[in-house]
Amino acid sequence: MTNEQIAIRQWLSKPTPYSAPCGCLGPREGEPDCPCAMRWIEKVHDSWYRIREHRSSDGITYSVEKIEEVY
Ligand SMILES: [Zn+2]
Repeated sequence: MTNEQIAIRQWLSKPTPYSAPCGCLGPREGEPDCPCAMRWIEKVHDSWYRIREHRSSDGITYSVEKIEEVY
């Protein structure tokens, strides 16, 4: 399995995040994004991956984007 596949599997094993306006004061230490955005981000083998959900008439698909180091 690739890191991307692992990231999706990890993410799917958790409750689906809801969308809400961001009221965070920025990322927590050691994390690439603020806490609400972290609900869409998984850590696999010390790399961060952002999950995106795509809804269409064919169903739901997911894409994963690796986040480059930010700190
Ligand atoms: Zn936020």
